[in-house]
Amino acid sequence: MDGKTLAEELKREIAARVKTIKERGLTPTLATVLVGDDTSSRTYVSGKRRDCEEVGIDFKLHKLSSSVTERELLGLIEKLNGDYKVHGIFVQLPLPKHINRKKVTASISPRKDVDGLHPYNVGKLWLGMYESENDLLPCTPKGIVKLLDRYNIELEGKLAVIINRSDLVGKPLAKLFLDRNATVVVCHSKTPELEKQTRTADVLVSAVGRRPSFVVSEKMVKKGAVVVDVGMNYVGGKLQGDVDFERVKEKASYIAPVPGGVGPMTRVMLLHNVLIATKLAEGA
Ligand code: NAP
Repeated sequence: MDGKTLAEELKREIAARVKTIKERGLTPTLATVLVGDDTSSRTYVSGKRRDCEEVGIDFKLHKLSSSVTERELLGLIEKLNGDYKVHGIFVQLPLPKHINRKKVTASISPRKDVDGLHPYNVGKLWLGMYESENDLLPCTPKGIVKLLDRYNIELEGKLAVIINRSDLVGKPLAKLFLDRNATVVVCHSKTPELEKQTRTADVLVSAVGRRPSFVVSEKMVKKGAVVVDVGMNYVGGKLQGDVDFERVKEKASYIAPVPGGVGPMTRVMLLHNVLIATKLAEGA
């Protein structure tokens, strides 16, 4: 499954929508908060800037030192919440240990929460009070579902196994899969006999990121399964997924590779969420 090409197509659609919004005198704007000097975080943030610039979204970076207090960070978010020119707020994770990540997430206005992690948006997802085109859902699960849709992969009646239970990936994805009438098994580091679970999967999603100690081998995959690799591992400076791609691709009916699968979809879904946030602000 080619997430890169699909993401490029979606970016063109988003760019056209941004142009129309700008013609009405409004510039969709994403404020990104970067705390500290972590190299990967800096790389992710520059990627976001590039993506925004490509589609015409205004990108505003707020860089804070790693010694910033939680109070100061919350103060900045409060300011951004009140700034009518800012439509989306994104706080790059991880945050330094002295800052409570959940508190920071909960301080972002739910209408500007382009990561879809605010308790209000999470609640709407779990209560089924959401529409994918109008509500803020977490970018990676949203991107995965979009990718499966593009390949007409039906989830109804299928057994989906997700290896990940984080707030960012596994939990919201499980809910989106349930809403499409899949039967969902969520696995994690304490799941006994993981292979027994994964071998039953019609759709297998892996988001672990612990190579080389964790690899999805072809033994773990049922013949004909749809395999979605989300894991990001840097091995010898090279990006690799969780899945042993060369072997598993011979067994799977579809496979989303790393790089070029879920990564670009996640990035484009952030842009999509900025458009949703802009629409929410307009309706305010
Ligand atoms: P995380 O919070 O560390 O989650 C990792 C998950 O893997 C946890 O649920 C953990 O279980 C589970 N796990 C760890 N070791 C395991 C094992 N041996 N067997 C089975 N499960 C195991 O990380 P995350 O933020 O969700 O991200 C996960 C991976 O996806 C990372 O590589 C990240 O870079 C990647 N990712 C990619 C994208 C993208 O756009 N491509 C987006 C988001 C994340 P416990 O809960 O028990 O610890």
